[in-house]
Amino acid sequence: MSPDDGLPDGLREHQTSDAPAPALLEDLVVGNRILSKMSILDGFGHVSVRHDKRPDRFLLARSMAPGLVTADDILEFGMDGEPVMGRAPKVHIERFIHSEIYKRRPDVGAIVHSHSPSVIPFTVTEVPLRAIYHMNSFLNGGAPVFEIRETAGTCSDMLIRDARLGAALAESLGDSAVALMRGHGYVVVGSTIKTAVMRAVYTETGAKVQADALKLGPVKYLTPEEAANAAAANDGAVHKAWDLWKAQVLGETP
Ligand code: MN
Repeated sequence: MSPDDGLPDGLREHQTSDAPAPALLEDLVVGNRILSKMSILDGFGHVSVRHDKRPDRFLLARSMAPGLVTADDILEFGMDGEPVMGRAPKVHIERFIHSEIYKRRPDVGAIVHSHSPSVIPFTVTEVPLRAIYHMNSFLNGGAPVFEIRETAGTCSDMLIRDARLGAALAESLGDSAVALMRGHGYVVVGSTIKTAVMRAVYTETGAKVQADALKLGPVKYLTPEEAANAAAANDGAVHKAWDLWKAQVLGETP
């Protein structure tokens, strides 16, 4: 019989006093559902959170479509990118995106990796993705483009398959909120899962807005000051988006 602590068996077996808060697991499940419903993730891509009691670990679902993730599918990983539990189910190839960013960015509490379509053109052209309206003001300073060829040459399969590639991506991200991945997708970070999810949604929306605006003519982007002020305002309002999206994925709104 399992103790009634709300933890999936896979996690309980390897944790005692440092089990993650059940609320964190719930938020990770909800985050998966939101990103799937908003078409930021489809069958592919993933979202993780840093462990609330073990900053040297993070939580990520096993290899599966994000829209189907439940608490029982969530595994704990170390900073080597490997699952903590001995006989883990199949895990995402690109888990090293998460481990290497968590290692380099103590301020990061959650990470989304997506291939959402409006962003891809900005990964393969010379047009920089920029803060164009208040909702993507976290792009202040721009989004660096990670070029996998610089680490893996011209014959890779584009995937972040190991810690070396993850480290190169994390290096490219630097202190930014978003790094684009040429011909692949992007990675978004936030201090909490709510912030990371909201930023992922507005990375996609902002890319669409920017592409639409560029078709009309010259574009006025936010100034660095406007973007900084708008970003601070949004950070205080994350709950509005999260509460709505959570209710929608739980079927509590029409
Ligand atoms: Mn990918």
